Amino acid sequence: MTAPAIFDLKTPVTKGTSGIVALDEQIASPDPCIRCGKCVQVCPYGVMPLYVDTYLEQERFSELEEVGLTNCRECGGCAFVCPAHRPLLQTIRLAKAKLGKLAGEVKANG
Ligand code: SF4
Ligand code: SF4
Repeated sequence: MTAPAIFDLKTPVTKGTSGIVALDEQIASPDPCIRCGKCVQVCPYGVMPLYVDTYLEQERFSELEEVGLTNCRECGGCAFVCPAHRPLLQTIRLAKAKLGKLAGEVKANG
C-alpha cells in the first residue's frame, strides 16, 4: 500500500515491480476530516496523521515533528482506514519533503 497510485492501465510492469494491489471499487474523493481518530489508533508508530494533514495545510511546519511525523514508516495504514478518504500517506510524504527542504535551507544559511 506504500507505492504510488496508478491510474493508467498502460503503465508497464518492470523488474522493479514487487507487487500490484488492484482495488475492486473506485476510490472516493476526500471529504473533510471528521476527527474520528482512526488514523491515530491504527498507527503502530504513534504518529497523529490528522494533525500532519492539518498542520501542513496551515503551514504550521514547526509543529509537524511534535505529532510524530519523523516516526512514520509509510505503511499506509492510516490512509487505508480513514473514512473520509483523506490522502494521508501522500500528505505525510509532502510534509517530510517540506521539513527536509526547510532543514536544508537552515543549514545553507548557517
Ligand atoms: S503511514 Fe505512517 S502515520 Fe500512517 S499508519 Fe503508517 S506509520 Fe503511521
Ligand atoms: S481517520 Fe481520517 S477522518 Fe478520522 S481523524 Fe484521521 S484523518 Fe480524520
